[in-house]
Amino acid sequence: MSETCLFCRIVAGEIPAQIVAQNDQCIAFRDVAPQAPLHVLVVPRAHVASLSAGEDAAMIGAVAMLAAQVARDAGYAERGFRTVVNDGPDAGQTVSHLHMHVLAGRPLAWPPG
Ligand code: 5GP
Ligand code: ZN
Repeated sequence: MSETCLFCRIVAGEIPAQIVAQNDQCIAFRDVAPQAPLHVLVVPRAHVASLSAGEDAAMIGAVAMLAAQVARDAGYAERGFRTVVNDGPDAGQTVSHLHMHVLAGRPLAWPPG
């Protein structure tokens, strides 16, 4: 755990979050500033700064699998959903702990901004 990392502190239970799913490798919780009716963040329990810093394929796979499960369990399997991983400044990454956004519940424009 990184003492100064926001998402490590959420994983540790030091900062409250609305957890919607979890397993031994990752947790999923609602984004504090939702951009769609469903907006959940899936993060590995272990600290990894970004997707490009990730070295554990099983961990990254677990994040993607839980993201899909969250969308399915929320009822968006048919209608569809989007996952997003922002990596670095141009992509707008603001929290340096790998996280996958799960967005659903409205039409999602493409290309993204
Ligand atoms: P990024 O911009 O790095 O891809 O995404 C970071 C996300 O974390 C943003 O969507 C932001 O709303 C969310 N966020 C920032 N601080 C908190 C917090 O304290 N709790 C929760 N649940 N989400 C947060
Ligand atoms: Zn962290």
